[in-house]
Amino acid sequence: MASVSTIAIDGPAASGKSTLGLRLAQELGYLFFDTGVMYRAVTWLMLQRGIDVDDEAAVTALAEQVPIDIRPASQADGRLCDVIVEGQDITWETRRPEVEANVSQVSAYAGVRRALTLQQRRIGLRGQVVMVGRDIGTVVLPEADLKIYLDASAEERARRRYLEILARGGQANYDEILAKVLARDQIDSTRAIAPLRPAEDAIIINSDGLDADQVYEKVRALCIS
Ligand code: C5P
Repeated sequence: MASVSTIAIDGPAASGKSTLGLRLAQELGYLFFDTGVMYRAVTWLMLQRGIDVDDEAAVTALAEQVPIDIRPASQADGRLCDVIVEGQDITWETRRPEVEANVSQVSAYAGVRRALTLQQRRIGLRGQVVMVGRDIGTVVLPEADLKIYLDASAEERARRRYLEILARGGQANYDEILAKVLARDQIDSTRAIAPLRPAEDAIIINSDGLDADQVYEKVRALCIS
């Protein structure tokens, strides 16, 4: 069905980008590449090594020196891909609250972005890829064939994240999740480098009131039009 080769999907935290991107990639037979996991992996490594989040030089050195391997999901435990660092599967570690609390500060560092953007662009330029993030359409792959900016209200995004955690058997507090989503949006959209914003030629989809199937059908139609 494809007449597009590179698809960029950007949007704020918990807007459903990854669910949409994975499904699209599976249908098209393309690589699904969720760039957020790279920022999460650097943040996890930083915490693991006891590096202070304010130590920009040390955090940047991690991003430059430690290879992060993203592979297709090896287990059917709800993961969308495997995240491997130094031979260790850290997929679920990257989802921990302490990672989420620090990832936006880490991803605002120029050197971290330079290192990760370079790797992401190299993979994106091979084509046949659905790449998901905050700055794919604006910075990583501005030449993408199709750019989607997936948005939803913060309340709706927090509600979805809350239900997702409960479905996995975890415990969650809606108000706390909402506060964290808002804090992450604030840092991601106001940072100096590659802030979260739609590319000028992006198609903006607001998913409030739409379920995952409806969003998928909208984007699928754009892929074949
Ligand atoms: O998409 P996800 O929530 O996994 O992303 C985690 C964090 O990584 C975001 O809050 C953002 O700070 C950062 N990120 C980014 N640029 C990307 C993808 C993610 O700055 N392309």
